[in-house]
Amino acid sequence: MVQETLIIIKPDAFSKGVAGRVITELENEGLKLLGCRQLKLSKDKAKEFYKEHMGKEFYEPVTDFMAANPIIVMVWSGEEAIVRSRKLIGKTDPRDAAEGTIRKKWAQNYRHNIIHGSDSPGSAEREIDFFFPAGSGICMWEKKEFKL
Ligand code: ADP
Ligand code: MG
Repeated sequence: MVQETLIIIKPDAFSKGVAGRVITELENEGLKLLGCRQLKLSKDKAKEFYKEHMGKEFYEPVTDFMAANPIIVMVWSGEEAIVRSRKLIGKTDPRDAAEGTIRKKWAQNYRHNIIHGSDSPGSAEREIDFFFPAGSGICMWEKKEFKL
């Protein structure tokens, strides 16, 4: 089933200079970029985005981190895009992430782990709407051949 998923390039990817390489990984996976925007989250918006984690010990530090510098929010689509992108991203803690995954390659630790990806169809729907309300900023496209 073709799905859409919300991917975030987190502030540490900017610090490491790997934002472009993260996008390349998703392109190489065969996923299709439908929407992309750079923005700086407010602390309040970061807390709202991660509200499922409210009360956990990492909630305050992770929302500080997410609001500390810009992020890139993106919608990617493809067959089973949610599971495929989560596999490419790897486990939350880079020590547990499989070889070849984005987090294994570039994440520093549990909190500073380069990338967010929706973990289910329900969260993808909520998270896409969070940054691209009512489809604003989404551009559908099909591959075309451009010939002279
Ligand atoms: P994921 O991003 O893999 O879906 P979670 O939804 O569990 O992981 O957590 C959201 C984010 O909060 C993580 O990506 C990470 O940045 C941070 N985080 C999660 N668990 C911890 C932890 N135990 N210590 C520090 N930061 C954490
Ligand atoms: Mg999560």
